[in-house]
Amino acid sequence: MTLKGFIDVVLERLSVHYPVQECKAIAIRLLKESAEGYKGYEHLVEPGRDLQDFAVAKTFAEGGESAERFLMAAVERLSTGEPLQYVLGYEWFCGHRFRVAEGVLVPRPETEELVREVVEHAGSCLRGAGEAPLRILDICTGSGCIAWSVAAALPGAEVFGCDISPQALEIAGGQEVYAADGGIRAVVKFFECDILAGDAQERIALECGDAPFDIVVSNPPYVCESEKALMRRNVLEFEPSIALFVPDEDPLRFYRRIAGLSGRVLGPGGALLFEINERFGRETAGAMEEAGFRDCRVLEDIFGKDRVVVGIF
Ligand code: GLN
Repeated sequence: MTLKGFIDVVLERLSVHYPVQECKAIAIRLLKESAEGYKGYEHLVEPGRDLQDFAVAKTFAEGGESAERFLMAAVERLSTGEPLQYVLGYEWFCGHRFRVAEGVLVPRPETEELVREVVEHAGSCLRGAGEAPLRILDICTGSGCIAWSVAAALPGAEVFGCDISPQALEIAGGQEVYAADGGIRAVVKFFECDILAGDAQERIALECGDAPFDIVVSNPPYVCESEKALMRRNVLEFEPSIALFVPDEDPLRFYRRIAGLSGRVLGPGGALLFEINERFGRETAGAMEEAGFRDCRVLEDIFGKDRVVVGIF
């Protein structure tokens, strides 16, 4: 099959799920990730070039096989509505490649903003030599992309991640993430914890020790059930609803709980950083103030929507 032929097949098979431009972007992304030597424009300058010319990337198969078989199998899966990142088995986030599969949310670009804020705040409380390391806890860690990215950016910090889902913890714990600057493996400890359960604080102390944290970060479920109508099938049918949805009557249930708990595990001057539903910036900041946080700020994401709330204890 030629490059042009392949793009036409993607357009035809995926147009029920995505707008035309997105189908094209998916086709090109698939080629870029899986066809060795394809740089992103060959379909324009050599549309008649055969897929057999490209070996499949080593991530997907050994032994110099052509990319064609992988690509056609990928289109088959995509045509059921399965997200591209599950088909590839990974997503890029903060410059690292994270394994993703059903059972964890696909990392979103707006969450990189949250990581940036955590790292920036950590800079203001960096320790001198001989002092205790920074302690950071990521609640509802999912794939672990926040915890790992923070750990990779802050060598020496003690980073912990917890989640209610054993399936997510298996993926988070198995990530192979290296600091960008020379292959030092970051270390993150993951543990199971239902953050809404009565014993959550004891679980945290048991797994992480009693020393106070410097930073708590969380991207908990925040999409209201009633917002399902606005969401795409590929998210609704494939991504874990436990990681996404909260009841309309109580959209801040995780935020109030995590803010209350954070007040008990953070040291003085410690920070809490949340990713939020763009509709509830003010309310989330209010819930944090009620839990004793000060200087609460609502920050916008790259799309200009309220997305992060930061407060100091
Ligand atoms: N931003 C995600 C979405 O739009 C939701 C993430 C979450 O609920 N924490 O699907």
